[in-house]
Amino acid sequence: MRLWPRENAPVIERGEGSWLIDTRGRRYLDGVSSLWVTLHGHGRPEIVRAIAEQAARLGHSTLLGLANVPASQLAEKLVEIAPDGLKRVFYSDNGSTAVEIALKLAYQYRRLSPDPAENGRTGFIAFRNAYHGDTVGSVSLGGIDLFHGTFRDLLFPVEFAEYPYYYRMGPPLDRGPYRDKCLAGLEEIVARHAERVGTVVIEPLVQGAGGMLTAEPGFLAGVREICDRWGLLLVADEVATGFGRTGRMFACEHEAVRPDFLCLAKGLSGGYLPLAATLTTEAVYERFLGTPGNPVTFYHGHSYTGNPIACAAALANLDIFEREKVIERMQPGLEHFARLLKERIEPLEAVGEVRRRGFMTGIELVADRSRRTPFDPALRLGKRVILEARRRGVIIRPLGDVVVLLPHLSFTRDELTTLVEVTAASIETACAEVRP
Ligand SMILES: *Cc1c(COP(=O)(O)O)cnc(C)c1O
Repeated sequence: MRLWPRENAPVIERGEGSWLIDTRGRRYLDGVSSLWVTLHGHGRPEIVRAIAEQAARLGHSTLLGLANVPASQLAEKLVEIAPDGLKRVFYSDNGSTAVEIALKLAYQYRRLSPDPAENGRTGFIAFRNAYHGDTVGSVSLGGIDLFHGTFRDLLFPVEFAEYPYYYRMGPPLDRGPYRDKCLAGLEEIVARHAERVGTVVIEPLVQGAGGMLTAEPGFLAGVREICDRWGLLLVADEVATGFGRTGRMFACEHEAVRPDFLCLAKGLSGGYLPLAATLTTEAVYERFLGTPGNPVTFYHGHSYTGNPIACAAALANLDIFEREKVIERMQPGLEHFARLLKERIEPLEAVGEVRRRGFMTGIELVADRSRRTPFDPALRLGKRVILEARRRGVIIRPLGDVVVLLPHLSFTRDELTTLVEVTAASIETACAEVRP
């Protein structure tokens, strides 16, 4: 907070397509999709219209004891496009609560089991470097000390397994065997705590806030297999990876994985309004029916749950995906982006690794490439890079010394080129500042 007033950050007033415009009329390319939410650009007329029309019709009505039209339609649509087996939808308004709801449902699911051996399996396994949101339950599942360490005493205990990402650990390792080692490690934890853990929570394919850490292919499917073998529920937190970010609609599709819970937020409304959904299976749903003599309630509800305006925005967002065949039509842009990163970013002296799944990209800056040594954190190199990019008209964000790029799915080839060129130049300029 002490440094913030000196930064003289732009005050954004308007958005146009891939661009943000501040109060002084300066234009910036939105290189992180306004923190991973915008999908098809700012000011999309279809979404704006859907919001205006819905606001005129009905601004809000509670989902406690009532239904509303857009929330019902959206639930049907989400079930249609989600991985098979996810049949039920529970709304909230942000990614942290989407996860919070999944973990409370998973917990109560065990408590409600007619089998006493099951009742104790209320514990969770998450992954090192995981990020699942900022509410206390989601923070408990978080594995990033910088974000989560302060609150440790407030958190419930969780077992942490290794995500198969190893760049910072030193000498190169063989990828396949390392993935298998991580899977074996997970299974060991499961076996050791078999009578009290019941749920695994994962960011499929990419740990976003952890630094765009990409899992080895096959890991997610392997985690699902372990869950099946041990009767564990799998929560897929696709708050970041959902809605095309990895090149498919959902990251789980890459490995044909069917989770027991799917958490969605960020891109759900196309980046227009706060909205989240936690999807689950018929089996979980049915347990909450209780018995005829003893019905059950899941005590969790937010005032704005299933807000009709937000749901109308989400319906318009999904309609764009369908009508414009977004996933299919973004593929050439993705290839162009991948080629640019290879040609312009990877060769840079200070770049240790470029990690990418679809458009989710992390550029790891290192002081010494051969030894993988980090820069002194006091140099705040990542921050310097993004400030330099801002001077050059591009908004990007650092996660420590990882520079994150996350273009809208609708960026043109020229905009993708600008994003990568400006990032490359900003890395070079920032490094020249800190290197004598
Ligand atoms: C951003 C994020 C969240 C939290 O979402 P909010 O809407 O910011 O609360 C949860 N999980 C993942 C994987 C995220 O990237």
